[in-house]
Amino acid sequence: MTARKRQAWNYAPELPLRSAPFLHWPLRPAAIARHLVKTWRPLTSRVLMLAVSFALWEWASPSLSEAESLRLGWVLEIWVRNLVLLTVVAGGLHLFLQRHRVQGDGLRYDARPLTRNKSLFLFNDQVKDNMFLSLVPAMVVATAWESLAWWAYANGIAPHWSFDDNPVWFVVLLGLVPIWSVLYFGAGHWLLHRGPVYRYIHSWHHRNMNIGPWSGLSMHPVEHVILYSDVVLFLVLPSSPVHMLFAIMHHTVGAPMSHTGYDAVRLPVRQRFELGDFHHQLHHRFIECNYGGIESPLDELIGAFHDGTPDGDQMVAARLSRLSERRRAQS
Ligand SMILES: [Zn+2]
Ligand SMILES: [Zn+2]
Repeated sequence: MTARKRQAWNYAPELPLRSAPFLHWPLRPAAIARHLVKTWRPLTSRVLMLAVSFALWEWASPSLSEAESLRLGWVLEIWVRNLVLLTVVAGGLHLFLQRHRVQGDGLRYDARPLTRNKSLFLFNDQVKDNMFLSLVPAMVVATAWESLAWWAYANGIAPHWSFDDNPVWFVVLLGLVPIWSVLYFGAGHWLLHRGPVYRYIHSWHHRNMNIGPWSGLSMHPVEHVILYSDVVLFLVLPSSPVHMLFAIMHHTVGAPMSHTGYDAVRLPVRQRFELGDFHHQLHHRFIECNYGGIESPLDELIGAFHDGTPDGDQMVAARLSRLSERRRAQS
């Protein structure tokens, strides 16, 4: 890494960032295998989200017979469970990393403090603003989408296959959920950057130039509706509720984790829990790049992949001037 880059970030992972090897032809089986091991090893946010999904499915979800009719009781139970889960994950990470700074700034991408005393944010405070938008509208929307999905499974609208119906498909679909999640998110996110939709809706999320765990779901309520709408996949593909929960957990648990602003949480015996997302951190700083994730082809297809290097800075500068020229021409 160059000296200039060291100044640009307090900490950066190994650069340049590269998109997932399964997106490149010819396919390199060894590289793909390494990528799969890296993204599915136990101490990662992905595996935690999967474990949480199974736990919720087993112990904190309605039965299919309960969900046959949309009743307030089980819907409220999902809402309370979502509130508790988000508070534990985002609140726990915030207290550990940002408030008490237990592991210092060693693995923090941008060491500047989160914003206070700025009228840009509700309550003039970034953390309070982010907490409000995450706990209030986000959890209502998440609960609504999940309840609809449970109701659809219970009434045969969503095709329900259990593990016993098709064990191979059950496992394959679990593997595909993260890919679906990033593809759907990337496409929706790119559209949210266009014209007035950005100005009125997505700019709420981009008030957060530097980010913390509560920033992950800090967005306009319309964007919450779009974000969680990826569960529509399960209206057409045969699946079990645990697949649907795994998709939803990419937002309720995944968004706070990917917005911590840290590359990892240090664990005893030199272990790390991988949860950072430098690719998305670049998006928060440079805005018109990295709309998807490293497992989505979108950014490379549209020439907006910022790999974290000075070349990426130049790419985004050229892209910004092209976009502003186009906006001038249209106005
Ligand atoms: Zn974000
Ligand atoms: Zn954005």
